[in-house]
Amino acid sequence: MEKCNFCGNKNLKEAKVEYIYKYYNKIMIVENVPCEVCEFCGERYFKAEVLKKIEKDFFEINSDRKKPANVMSVPVEEYDLVI
Ligand SMILES: [Zn+2]
Repeated sequence: MEKCNFCGNKNLKEAKVEYIYKYYNKIMIVENVPCEVCEFCGERYFKAEVLKKIEKDFFEINSDRKKPANVMSVPVEEYDLVI
């Protein structure tokens, strides 16, 4: 990336971040995913091959063809707006 698509800032730095992949009611958290982060607005940019690998891992794990590195349970709450 030469500049951020959202804010136009040209300072993007390489980073490793946590990526949350959600598909219907299934969620996979992937640690240490390489990306570029905009130093101004925080927008994250992932390469297509990185996203493809995450998608592949997700479907392999959910069809028991691959074992995840770790498993955690996730509570789900709905924000309740009371006026
Ligand atoms: Zn930006």
